Amino acid sequence: MLDVGRHPNINLMAYSEVEKVEGQVGAFKVTVRKKARYVDEDKCTGCGACEEKCPTVVPDAFNEGLGTRKAIYAYFAQGIPSTRTIDPDHCRQLNGKKCGICKKTCQADAVNFDQKDQMVELDVGAIIVAAGYDVFDPSRIPEYRYNEIPNVVTAIEFERLLSASGPTGGHVYRPSDLAAKAKIEELEKKLKKAQKTLQRYEEKFGQDSEAFYKQYQAGDFGEDEERKKWAAKYEEYLGIAKPLEQMKKEAEGFGSAKRLAFIQCVGSRDFRFYPFCSGYCCMHSIKEAIIAHEHEPETTSTIFGMDIRAVGKGFEEYKIRGGNQSGITYTRGRVAEIVEGENHYPIVFYEDTRERRVKSEEFDMVILATACAPTKGIATLAKTLGIELDDYGFVKTSPVSPVDSTVPGIFVCGCAESPMDVPESVAQASSAAQRAAEVVALQSLEKEKAVA
Ligand SMILES: Cc1cc2nc3c(=O)[nH]c(=O)nc-3n(C[C@H](O)[C@H](O)[C@H](O)COP(=O)(O)OP(=O)(O)OC[C@H]3O[C@@H](n4cnc5c(N)ncnc54)[C@H](O)[C@@H]3O)c2cc1C
Ligand code: SF4
Ligand code: SF4
Repeated sequence: MLDVGRHPNINLMAYSEVEKVEGQVGAFKVTVRKKARYVDEDKCTGCGACEEKCPTVVPDAFNEGLGTRKAIYAYFAQGIPSTRTIDPDHCRQLNGKKCGICKKTCQADAVNFDQKDQMVELDVGAIIVAAGYDVFDPSRIPEYRYNEIPNVVTAIEFERLLSASGPTGGHVYRPSDLAAKAKIEELEKKLKKAQKTLQRYEEKFGQDSEAFYKQYQAGDFGEDEERKKWAAKYEEYLGIAKPLEQMKKEAEGFGSAKRLAFIQCVGSRDFRFYPFCSGYCCMHSIKEAIIAHEHEPETTSTIFGMDIRAVGKGFEEYKIRGGNQSGITYTRGRVAEIVEGENHYPIVFYEDTRERRVKSEEFDMVILATACAPTKGIATLAKTLGIELDDYGFVKTSPVSPVDSTVPGIFVCGCAESPMDVPESVAQASSAAQRAAEVVALQSLEKEKAVA
């Protein structure tokens, strides 16, 4: 990726969107909106001092909402250019409140609240669409209760939990435990505030709050208004301290999730949604189960699928190794339902087609291998480019020219065309680049011929 940023022939326009495309093969005029970052990319050193001081905390989309980020942030750690961006929807200063802490903190003077979107016009001979995919929304399958059971997650969410640079530093903690820990932190802050308030009364009356409250309950202070207020504050404190103590006790039993269930074909090979196989999900489930086992050797995983499609050189061997060395059991069967057991443990109901029996099993966490769905913005982009989409919403190509769109000079690669893994996407990207170079070279030759 760094090579792309440094390449003399590549002009990278990150945080930008194509607004208009005119012309034809060999002579397209493309209008691109370069969105305001409110940070000067050339001045920003990427030190992150601004981010540390920013008081605004919001859910982090890159970590699938499992962690938080600040209003001034880097979308992900290795992103290029290595700069920060201010989120205009959440920044206090950009929403009419007083702040500007990041500007005061930045020693490179990179923060600029007056920055505006810029429209850039490009003359290009060919275009390649590489807009990728989105994961299928599993809440469309209500029997899997994705939105109701916190410990039922998508594979992409699980990847973030497994990642050393993710919200848990690579520890597979159950989302319900993470939520409980966040609640404990919130209550601890509230408790500190309540303790400070009580301290003021204690100093004023020279008495401990607990002793005072006992006397107050015994009716020793009659209708004294100030003592009434103190008693109310003490009750407020108790209302935080008691549940907090209970939650802390429960949190002592939290550990990493060690009994994992992976459910394949969630939205794929399902005529209610996408009839096709998404191609990569069998392998990413095996990969995730192997990594989870590497992190925590006691981890066992059950992969539920109609069949495991390990298609590719060395993939079958990888699958077998996962079974032999990483605690993976492959269960042939389609999962019918997931329900929530005690302590947020998901229970999976499935038909074991080998034994021809309906069974149920409790897990620490369930991971849904969701289908590869067309990226949400593809319909708008296709309209802008004038290209057609296929029945599912991927860019339409023909089997004889799989990287050519329906418009000459506009090509496609990767999951924008159809589901495929990274090596296939890279191979297709090379192919699309070659096709683009071919048409541009041909156009120049024709122009030269016309002049001669
Ligand atoms: C959980 C999970 C794990 C996986 N693990 C593996 C693995 O281990 N190995 C493997 O080979 N494959 C894996 N895959 C598959 C892999 O993610 C895809 O093969 C790969 O990302 C496809 O690359 P792409 O460039 O086509 O699309 P993407 O990676 O989706 O990239 C498309 C990019 O285009 C951007 N974009 C979208 N619309 C626009 C627009 N209108 N304007 C500008 N930019 C836009 C997007 O923000 C995105 O950055 C996994 C998939 C999942 C869901
Ligand atoms: S102005 Fe304040 S809220 Fe906005 S990004 Fe800077 S520090 Fe954060
Ligand atoms: S790759 Fe596996 S999980 Fe994904 S759709 Fe195909 S069979 Fe189902």
